[in-house]
Amino acid sequence: MQTFQYSKADTVEKALAGAATGRFIAGGTTLVDLMKLDVEQPKELVDINPLPLATIEKLQDGGLRVGAMVCNSDLAWNADVKSFYPVLSQALLSGASPQLRNMATTGGNLMQRTRCVYFREPTAGTPGGYGCNKRAPGTGCAAMDGYNRMHAILGVSDQCIATHPSDMCVAMAALEAVIHVEGPKGKRTIAFADFHKLPGDTPHIENALEPGELITHVDLPKLPEGARSAYLKLRDRASYEFALASAAVIAKVEGGQIRFIRVAMGGVGTKPWRSHEAEAALDGKEANDANCRAAAAAALAGAKTLPGNAFKVELARRCVVRALKIVTA
Ligand code: SF4
Repeated sequence: MQTFQYSKADTVEKALAGAATGRFIAGGTTLVDLMKLDVEQPKELVDINPLPLATIEKLQDGGLRVGAMVCNSDLAWNADVKSFYPVLSQALLSGASPQLRNMATTGGNLMQRTRCVYFREPTAGTPGGYGCNKRAPGTGCAAMDGYNRMHAILGVSDQCIATHPSDMCVAMAALEAVIHVEGPKGKRTIAFADFHKLPGDTPHIENALEPGELITHVDLPKLPEGARSAYLKLRDRASYEFALASAAVIAKVEGGQIRFIRVAMGGVGTKPWRSHEAEAALDGKEANDANCRAAAAAALAGAKTLPGNAFKVELARRCVVRALKIVTA
């Protein structure tokens, strides 16, 4: 690990002032790992743990405002989240371990970086090391011809096939969360769908944050009365493991017909993957087996696979079908 300067900020203003040349650190559950591997080498760290951003408040329109410093455990077990957004509670509790969930924050979870094994190699992107366009643009992608069983099949490019690792973000994609940020140019909001970037030709650019911007809150819009939601995660072992495929589904069924539907997937996309195709296949339709299967097929129609990850197409289809059946039963 490289040496770095450390400071603490107890107001957003102080944090922003310190961010000109440094990085924010909260729970550190991603950043410290990557610093130990020399993947990240910040010269300065601004500790934002003292910021007054660890509250969950009801909004006047019925939604919920989640402070960026709320830890994953507190968010998962919050009574309003459990009642009104079970998909989010379930997604959070399916991720990491209790110890990590006690440390990891909402803002930090949004900033999680990929678990691609080549990306995490200390020498990736350097002469003699594995090629990794995310670490060093133009050095290639070792995963294309290497170990790619965990890699993405949706949203991939010729430059990068790294999977986005977050469970929380899949639920937030389905919930159409809104991210509040503050930076040198003031405050702004970012729609969840616009926050994470597809790799395209620039896999090193992972999100829409501008230099020095800090995530302050995430708003969860109110769902329609009667909507049900669930998160289903399929993985190699039952705990402390990343998704091979997951599905966050929100649905409202009236008179046997689907009147509101949201579908998002994890473990298969280069970003938390919202499937408008699956939603279009179900909207206004009967909630039956054939329609759920058709929607899942539509969700995976654009998949691009390699020999190591081709199995994910069928796995993800089955995951979406099962999640749809849970919420529409
Ligand atoms: Fe790097 Fe992306 Fe290729 Fe992994 S998949 S080696 S992160 S370029």
